[in-house]
Amino acid sequence: MLFERQTFFVAGLSRSGVSAAEYLISRGACVYAYDDVEDESVTAAAVKLSEIGCHIVSKDELEEKSERCDVLVLSPGIPVDHPLPVMFRKAGKRIIGETELGALAVRCPVVAVTGTNGKTTTVSMLEGIFRTAGKHAVACANIGKPLTSCIGELGENGVAVAEISSFQLETLYSLRPHVAIVLNVTEDHLNRHYNMENYTYLKAKILHNSAESEYAVLNYDDPIVRSFAEKTRAKVVWFSLNEKVAGGYIADGGFYFLGERILSESDLPIDGDHNRANALAAICAAKLFGVGNAAIIAALKSFRGVKHRLQKVGELGGVTFIDDSKATNVDSAIKAIESVRGESVLLVGGKDKGYSYEQLFEAVKKSGVVHAVIYGENAFRVLNSALKQGFTAVTLCRPFDMAVRVAYLTAKRGQSVLLSPASASFDAFKNYEERGERFTEMISVLAEEGKREKLTVIAGGDGENGEAE
Ligand code: ADP
Repeated sequence: MLFERQTFFVAGLSRSGVSAAEYLISRGACVYAYDDVEDESVTAAAVKLSEIGCHIVSKDELEEKSERCDVLVLSPGIPVDHPLPVMFRKAGKRIIGETELGALAVRCPVVAVTGTNGKTTTVSMLEGIFRTAGKHAVACANIGKPLTSCIGELGENGVAVAEISSFQLETLYSLRPHVAIVLNVTEDHLNRHYNMENYTYLKAKILHNSAESEYAVLNYDDPIVRSFAEKTRAKVVWFSLNEKVAGGYIADGGFYFLGERILSESDLPIDGDHNRANALAAICAAKLFGVGNAAIIAALKSFRGVKHRLQKVGELGGVTFIDDSKATNVDSAIKAIESVRGESVLLVGGKDKGYSYEQLFEAVKKSGVVHAVIYGENAFRVLNSALKQGFTAVTLCRPFDMAVRVAYLTAKRGQSVLLSPASASFDAFKNYEERGERFTEMISVLAEEGKREKLTVIAGGDGENGEAE
């Protein structure tokens, strides 16, 4: 792409939008940038960009300025049927994402990881493995740095370990990963992609450019992902928790790759079958890159998981608090309740994404979940699914803080309070990180309340059972 001759319109000034604008300006392009949100971070980004020659567009100038531009660089947060991209499409102009710009520029090998759940975990495992092996690997795209911001750093000899979401795939055309991993495809983001067909199409797009010299690491246990083998020219390497496939699998308590034992299951410090599947996918990609077993073993043995994913964040009055705030869809919450040992009180709810929660409660009935505290904007939809499934040990409690309090007071000593919402966080929080942080903060709030309660009870003359448990 000849940047000097083209005028770009960057829509959305979050991290990737800023990186795209900086990248384009550094290559001589004329760039207009716009965001309809007016907050501190957008204002700071606009100031920073205008200092390097970017034209910041206001709401009233939107139509006029966008008409001057040849290409729209759309933030993954903005749907492709938003009026702005529709306007560009009607004018016959190109619409790309920041990752597409990165894909056009990247010169080193890329491992691309997609799937509904497990992307960040797998990318983090892989980055650790490559780094332990002495390679300059960078976790990028949907995690860590935007791809355009690490092109120079990666050079020709680095390895880009790119997490790719379905939102990014909407505007990504040129990525040709040396290894593409597809972890799973289950219901998510239907409010954005409308139906599973669209969503599945987008996930398969990661393999569109692969040739015979590339690899597709596919989950044999997931029927949708298994069907992708027929749609790609890449060499397929499977991974499976259940079958001895041509690729990565589990046998005799160990992780295997093509008949070779790599490490014991007990060497992986994080729980859950889903994490064993993520580790298998990471092992497959590492082996395809020629990484030695010693580095794979050392990196996986020291992998402690990622924040807000089944993370034990505290204990109070004999109750363990587990933050799985990143479980923003039904399948990830099911994996969480299947992984948590012992009995738990589940905190579930938030912003709805257009699917049913019945499968979740089917799994809840078979799990150690003894009670569900349902909160958030979709509380009645979640409650409806629980009742349809005959799970009646529920409390409805809209505000988040109150829900955490109720969950804690419901949990008995030895049980856990598990935040695994099966919903997005945007009804009450900026993102899932903020929701997870608030959950952890609530432990201190509850500890303080417990102390006050104790004082009140003692003052009332009954010191026997003062702790709020
Ligand atoms: P992503 O980046 O795809 O959102 P994460 O690694 O951040 O995935 O994990 C998100 C949530 O999904 C976590 O709550 C975790 O418990 C669950 N999860 C992780 N890996 C898998 C998997 N392979 N299958 C299903 N759920 C998973």
